[in-house]
Amino acid sequence: MPELSEVEVVRAGLARHVVGRTVTGVEVLDPRPLRRQDGGAQAFVDRITGRTVTAAVRRGKFLWLPLDDGRALSAHLGMSGQLLVRGTTTAAASEPDPEPVSAAAFLTDPSAQHGGRPVDLSATEQPRYVRDISTSPRHLRVRLHLSTYPSADPSAGEGPVPGAGSGDGAVLDLVDQRMLGGLHVVDLVPTADGAPGGMGSPEPLLPADATHIARDLLDPSLERTGPGGVVTRVRASKRAIKTLLLDQGLVSGIGNIYADEGLWEAGVHGLRPGAAIGPRGVARILESTAEVMRRALEAGGTSFDALYVDVEGASGFFARELRAYGRQGQDCRRCGTSMLREVLGGRSHTYCPRCQTRPRRSR
Ligand SMILES: [Zn+2]
Repeated sequence: MPELSEVEVVRAGLARHVVGRTVTGVEVLDPRPLRRQDGGAQAFVDRITGRTVTAAVRRGKFLWLPLDDGRALSAHLGMSGQLLVRGTTTAAASEPDPEPVSAAAFLTDPSAQHGGRPVDLSATEQPRYVRDISTSPRHLRVRLHLSTYPSADPSAGEGPVPGAGSGDGAVLDLVDQRMLGGLHVVDLVPTADGAPGGMGSPEPLLPADATHIARDLLDPSLERTGPGGVVTRVRASKRAIKTLLLDQGLVSGIGNIYADEGLWEAGVHGLRPGAAIGPRGVARILESTAEVMRRALEAGGTSFDALYVDVEGASGFFARELRAYGRQGQDCRRCGTSMLREVLGGRSHTYCPRCQTRPRRSR
């Protein structure tokens, strides 16, 4: 699965290039990515056609586009899914976006059928790998045809780029090599706490099939302390702390990389049961993990290179910043001890045996 920073790059790109546009048509080249749609592919086409995208929202790694009829287009990228916007730029706008945290990459693709340069929403720098798959028709699964913007003066902030949509006939493509991603239209329901559903919209709504997804660690509405807060729930569990960090129903958005990094920063072995960690220790783990996520978000917008993304979503740039994940056999950057790796809950866990003492009685 991609890590949170990649999903945020995609969300920000959709906010810039797709919000405010209306879906004027759908081409289903392969119905399998629509398998989560109630009613099947035809229901997807019926529900999305004519609808205008009003926002791009993310909770953890869960991404959705609210529509003007109260439903939302939910997007799953799986392991290899890409969302590509083509035709949103004119030839005159072909220079790389100068904005420092731009979500968009502009890649030269002479075979693009829709003019301009396709915008790869999941990469920001030389996405050669992305270009390879995006130009291969057999990997294009679903194409949404998009209108130009209704107004020449789109609202400020995260809205569309002024002028970018004039007479373009843009499309949003779902490209997927391994068929694990998908799209579906789903009802929106109120959030239980009345707070915004996620990053990207103030509306207290989220997809009906995402109500089990907890708020993510960077969400200001996440309840950390208190009776129902994350710290309390971690300390009430005998499960391993790393397993708890990866539990999207407890706190979302933490992938394997961030969990290993946060645990290394906090000096806690992943096997330690939640119940065996004090409240301050749990708070420290959450804060160190959140800090890793903030660093990844900063790096993700400017230096993510799809070519060097490994299977868990570590980009080449961010990999150089890693202190734990993928460093087995290398010296701990804090104490010099050789890092170890073991399997924990079906996932790899890399740790320093000196800084992160392994619990004695476990399995
Ligand atoms: Zn160490």
